[in-house]
Amino acid sequence: MRRLKKLYFLLIFVIIGLSFILVCRFFCCDSCFFLKPLPQSIPLKIRMDVYGDGHFGSPRNGGRKHRGIDLQASLDTPVLAAKSGFVVKTDYDKYSGYYVVIWHWPNLKSYYLHLPEIEVKKWQPVKQGQVIGRVGKTGNAKLKGIKPHLHFEIREKGIPQDVLKRWDLSFLIRENVEMGMVFYGIS
Ligand SMILES: [Zn+2]
Repeated sequence: MRRLKKLYFLLIFVIIGLSFILVCRFFCCDSCFFLKPLPQSIPLKIRMDVYGDGHFGSPRNGGRKHRGIDLQASLDTPVLAAKSGFVVKTDYDKYSGYYVVIWHWPNLKSYYLHLPEIEVKKWQPVKQGQVIGRVGKTGNAKLKGIKPHLHFEIREKGIPQDVLKRWDLSFLIRENVEMGMVFYGIS
């Protein structure tokens, strides 16, 4: 009887341990860094055209400020999940076009705007680097003079962050500022 009890506790211990490893694999292993949301082979450029500049904080109509970064890329370039998480929103509005929001543990969300269509489902778990859409020109990116780009944004507790600066400091290295950036985890 005692042996059985011991075995029982051992089993529980193993199950808890395994679940912990699984959860960690999904949420933590890649959670040290954000991956560039476009394929590594594509050189990245921050959008710069007659309508404006795609850096964080650059001025927009009506005194607004740009809340993300615009990564210039040709139409239909695959858009990748910057980090593992769950799709918490897929929607359309006239400014953002078709967009996807992914929640990342514990309080971060990444936004992918101007997609040509929605290719993921709400509450779908996604792995870092998984294709979640393509570069498009919907919403206010549809104007002819605006170069095709992915508007990429990270919010912490709902507040848009300066992706380049913020993630430079903690766990990202920014490379090749002129050409855009490549995100590498350093931990
Ligand atoms: Zn933008």
